[in-house]
Amino acid sequence: MTFERLWPLIEKHVGEVFDNGKFSHGRQVAELEQALAAYTGARYAIGVNSGTDALVLLLRACGLRPGDGVLVPAYSFVATATSVVLAGGRPEFVDIDPTTYAMDPDALARATTPASRFVMPAHLFCQMADMAALADVAAHHGLTLLEDSAEAIGMRQHGSHAGLHGRGGVLSFFPSKTLGALGDAGAVLTDDREIADLVSGLRHHGRCAPTLDDFPRISTETTVPGTNSKMDDIQAAILLAKLSCLESDIARRAELADAYRERLTGVPGIIRLPEVVERGTDSAHVFYVYLIEVERRDALVDHLTGRGIATEIYYPVPLHLQPCFAELGHSRGDFPHAEAASEHAVALPFYPDLTVDQIDHVCEAVRAFSTTTAIPASRRGR
Ligand SMILES: *Cc1c(COP(=O)(O)O)cnc(C)c1O
Repeated sequence: MTFERLWPLIEKHVGEVFDNGKFSHGRQVAELEQALAAYTGARYAIGVNSGTDALVLLLRACGLRPGDGVLVPAYSFVATATSVVLAGGRPEFVDIDPTTYAMDPDALARATTPASRFVMPAHLFCQMADMAALADVAAHHGLTLLEDSAEAIGMRQHGSHAGLHGRGGVLSFFPSKTLGALGDAGAVLTDDREIADLVSGLRHHGRCAPTLDDFPRISTETTVPGTNSKMDDIQAAILLAKLSCLESDIARRAELADAYRERLTGVPGIIRLPEVVERGTDSAHVFYVYLIEVERRDALVDHLTGRGIATEIYYPVPLHLQPCFAELGHSRGDFPHAEAASEHAVALPFYPDLTVDQIDHVCEAVRAFSTTTAIPASRRGR
């Protein structure tokens, strides 16, 4: 939906924030939580200030102890693994499936150590990890299953929304996400009452409500050292407005992905276009990002930038090679699929208001690049 059409709805919800005068953890947040629970089918949706804090609080609420191993994919947004450190755990990396870019169940079985207590796959770009297979491995090794479903609003597998296949998951409403706020916001999703109660308290200085039913009447006692991860009502208001057009935005994203596929199939130099793996009935994929893999990625990025076309690199450094994880002692070659994706993947312009003419323009530029043999050496290998 275009911003002009969305604006009256935003004005209405933001107006309500000013009318009732509570700008943090107020009525719009409570309404958004209900709307998210209804949309995803989660018993509980708990609004927080970012997807990253949602991950940290979820891990803490699930009983992560200092030093616990948390198996995470070696290729994801850095918060998938830094949240583990912030919660006191230790990331243990697992290679990905090169088609879905999500944690590979066979690699998970091999990566498990005696310290492993949790596994947290991430659902990236357009589809979920193979949750049935991952749940089998998790059960076999006694691991608690969580999901970094920050990118995965609208994605479902075997009838359940992303985030609800283990003990809990998260959503991120960072502005570029499928459902984006005008700033930072996030949520925890869970069907588990105990986890919901704990996250609810932890986001608000540990002032746990005795139960969620009592929630507005929170305790004045601090039962656990919590933090301030409350959600702003202005962001909740924006999200309530945008949630009403989420389904039409998702449908538009699917059309745009088809348009890209038609125009890019068979173009030389492209290693991979997005390929959705169907898993059972009542599953749904959602194009959050249109990510392709190409042979000379950095040169293509330069070529497109020179024509005024913005691209985004997801994710330029695999997690095991990030300096902040140097002490885990990994080196290049440890997770080959994660490394290959980091080297070749690039996301093309992709948002619901994009036009098919613009997609034509992008695809012509990609095709022109693939037929250009002479790339100036100075622009190679950034
Ligand atoms: C966006 C994202 C996050 C973090 O969410 P923020 O709201 O930006 O804190 C975590 N994990 C993944 C996979 C993401 O894409």
